[in-house]
Amino acid sequence: MILVFEPTASAEDLVRAEQVVRRAGADPKRLTAAGGRVAIEASGVTLEEAQAVAGVAFVLEGTPAYRRVARRGQGEGTRVVYVRGVPIGGPEVVLIAGPCAVEHEEQLEECARAAKSAGARLLRGGAFKPRTSPYSFQGLGDDGLRLLRAAADRHDLAVVTEVLEPAAVGLVAEHADMLQVGSRNMQNTALLRAVGRQKRPVLLKRGMSATLEEWLFAAEYIADAGNEDIVLCERGVRTFDPASRNLLDLAAVPLLRARTHLPLAVDPSHGVGVKAAVLPMALAAVAAGADAVMIECHPEPGTAKSDGFQALTPAELAVLGARLRVVARAVDRS
Ligand code: PEP
Ligand code: MN
Repeated sequence: MILVFEPTASAEDLVRAEQVVRRAGADPKRLTAAGGRVAIEASGVTLEEAQAVAGVAFVLEGTPAYRRVARRGQGEGTRVVYVRGVPIGGPEVVLIAGPCAVEHEEQLEECARAAKSAGARLLRGGAFKPRTSPYSFQGLGDDGLRLLRAAADRHDLAVVTEVLEPAAVGLVAEHADMLQVGSRNMQNTALLRAVGRQKRPVLLKRGMSATLEEWLFAAEYIADAGNEDIVLCERGVRTFDPASRNLLDLAAVPLLRARTHLPLAVDPSHGVGVKAAVLPMALAAVAAGADAVMIECHPEPGTAKSDGFQALTPAELAVLGARLRVVARAVDRS
């Protein structure tokens, strides 16, 4: 990235800009830009930081500082991430379905059966739940992992489940095919590094108030630690309007597509948090170019221990699967 200064920029502006670059761990080189303006090479600085520097007229973006996950030119395709042999990022739009939380064997069996018959390739379900309140159901832990593995194996599905802390990465990776880093942990750099040091692919959900750039830098932590098998999952951002749980940012899909080669998933269940909106927004996600869609379901949403209000029944999930296939074909996917 190169900062080009206003002709009126002062010597102090330049010194301050150099301090910003040094704080980012890089060496600021002074260059001369067209018209005799001063420019400073500023690798490592985020676009937000660069634009905040006093005296800067404009910023020239070269290779972004999140260089491992950045798309290298328009000719570069999307990286295909294989989850137990299921390709995410290829021509097929992958459906991921399952309960918010693993509750017991029968509930999970019904979810796995519903997921499979709706066309899902991955079974989701939380064994370790990052609940807002410490008094809410926290998940079944290890037992939940074993139930997930068994239910997925019975139906030939892959497993994605959330890991909350670095110390649990090994355990979760033993049972799951893909590790989920949740919204609340998107900037937990110790966890990002820990999932980056192991071999399972990672589903990285968007922080609930994270910019696209912050999200890409979070992915860069994982890639830099050694694991480039990352799928980004849009799950809605906080806004002013209580009419929905979150505002599902579907524009993130085409905006990210231009910036990264990583495959992109969308979770309309948490993204809107209103059951009636899940199907239409899932269809819209595929139309927008998503490589995968993640949906919460429950055999009896009214009795769910978490997020029942946004869970689809098995019958509703079947309708969603069938409608998704139609939209996928309309945008040249399967
Ligand atoms: C989840 O998918 O189970 C979850 C907790 O979602 P998020 O991290 O997006 O809130
Ligand atoms: Mn949930």
